[in-house]
Amino acid sequence: MLTGMNIAVLGGDARQLEVIRKLTELDAKVYLTGFEQLAHAYTGAVKEKLEDLPVKELDAIILPVAGTNLDGKLDTIFSNMQVILTEAFLKETPEHCTIYSGISNDYLSNITRQANRKLVQLFERDDVAIYNSIPTVEGTIMMAIQHTDFTIHGSKVIVLGLGRVGMSVARAFHGLGAKVHVGARKSEHIARIEEMGLTSFHLSALESVVENVDICINTVPHKIITAGIISRMPSRTLIIDLASKPGGTDFRYAEKRGVKAILAPGLPGIVAPKTAGQIIANVLGQLLLQDLGNGKETP
Ligand code: NAP
Repeated sequence: MLTGMNIAVLGGDARQLEVIRKLTELDAKVYLTGFEQLAHAYTGAVKEKLEDLPVKELDAIILPVAGTNLDGKLDTIFSNMQVILTEAFLKETPEHCTIYSGISNDYLSNITRQANRKLVQLFERDDVAIYNSIPTVEGTIMMAIQHTDFTIHGSKVIVLGLGRVGMSVARAFHGLGAKVHVGARKSEHIARIEEMGLTSFHLSALESVVENVDICINTVPHKIITAGIISRMPSRTLIIDLASKPGGTDFRYAEKRGVKAILAPGLPGIVAPKTAGQIIANVLGQLLLQDLGNGKETP
């Protein structure tokens, strides 16, 4: 249990509701900043403005999945008030106070480093990324259905990258009856693709496999679907780019060529915010319990 721990949840979207539920279930004292418009009340959680938080007593701070923007501003969909995280605020927290975020950027990494506080990026963890690939795949299937007039079954689907998302996407489209080709650059990935019963190719040969492609799904966070590649695709091709912004597609050229290309970030939070929230909440709960077991005392 997290009895005696003081945890501040600063901003966020519907996914944080699962986190708040989990933390209160685990008996932490939870402070909610950026949630004034949230109608639901949680036993054990109080709404406070940033300046009214008991900052010197905080054991952990939970940020939105996206962390801060480059000016320190936090997303607060349950509030109209600006919440800005600063180095000065972090310096006021106890030394053991840990900051949990989905991802980080230069601003957040910099202020946590300057304040000498530990920053945990949950989305860097394999377990979170693999669980998160499940709603990502479901969102990808939804997009493929919405944006095509043919079935996935029997279509030629190219998946770029065999990481945590690529593997789940490839397996699901294969299960739906698509002819799945997966591009990777490591020999062990090529071997795994073959073992999965899919058709493999080296990413350097992408140009030669895009002819007749129906759906191309990118998970590689680098410019990989270049103008040269798009020019070889049939105009019916649908490109779904899952890689983090700005994606790996030359969107300008795709539009010019009349190939539909969609950047689709944040699918878990869109198609399954409850599940996406539970994934974060479960891992966060385990991490906080571990921290508590590592020397912090309960009253
Ligand atoms: P990952 O496990 O790191 O996989 C990335 C894949 O891209 C790996 O196969 C990697 O191959 C390959 N890759 C990376 N850089 C490359 C390069 N320069 N050239 C060729 N291949 C390269 O990441 P992930 O968890 O699958 O996530 C993939 C992307 O999807 C990320 O950008 C992530 O932020 C995003 N994402 C989006 C959503 C959404 O809703 N749209 C949801 C979750 C994740 P190597 O092993 O050879 O490097």
